[in-house]
Amino acid sequence: MDKVLENYQVYLAVIEQKINKFFDDQKPYIFCDKGCAKCCQNAEFPFTKIEFYYLMEGACKLSQATKQIISDNITRILKEKKSCRKKDFLYTCPFLIDNVCSVYQYRGIVCRTFGLMYTGKDGRVKVPFCCYRGLNYSNVLEDGGTQISREKFEKLGYDKEPVAYNIGYDFLTDSDFENGFHFKFGEKKPLIEWFMMQDAELSESVKIPFTIPKM
Ligand code: SF4
Ligand code: SF4
Repeated sequence: MDKVLENYQVYLAVIEQKINKFFDDQKPYIFCDKGCAKCCQNAEFPFTKIEFYYLMEGACKLSQATKQIISDNITRILKEKKSCRKKDFLYTCPFLIDNVCSVYQYRGIVCRTFGLMYTGKDGRVKVPFCCYRGLNYSNVLEDGGTQISREKFEKLGYDKEPVAYNIGYDFLTDSDFENGFHFKFGEKKPLIEWFMMQDAELSESVKIPFTIPKM
């Protein structure tokens, strides 16, 4: 593996250790379970270039049958995107198979943080959307509202309060991390758009292990 991707992996290990600790601290409010993949659907999935390269490292290791399923997913999504008239094109991640991530170790940064409350770049607290579907933080959400209820938290009797962390995507892909860990995030775009690039536009160091139709 090239040195830059190795440095990126070190960065991932560092942030993942913190993210895991945050999930652990917020355990009373977290309802993530295997098979729940609502956060892998109906989204854009921002990926920087290095995240995409790393994802392809993982994809190359999959079986031929799994690659074929992903290839078919990508082809279908690209077709849907072409005929979509809406400004934002939302889709199910092509790497989600039977509600399980097929490239879990290699998934993106946004995939690693989703489910926790966080502070957005506007400084406001954001709750994961699944909060409104009876999942994460729903047990401390004020009735019919969007705020965390102090009353509900106190009633639950847990010692750790629901907290918003500084783990927004913009913060985690800030240039300070590039300088500290010696790699570049590169361009940022929705995951599916990486598959719209022509072969020549991608560096030779990334191999896309799927047959992608030219659109
Ligand atoms: S973050 Fe929400 S939608 Fe995603 S797995 Fe956890 S509970 Fe399900
Ligand atoms: S890469 Fe995996 S975790 Fe991330 S959105 Fe796709 S299926 Fe979900």
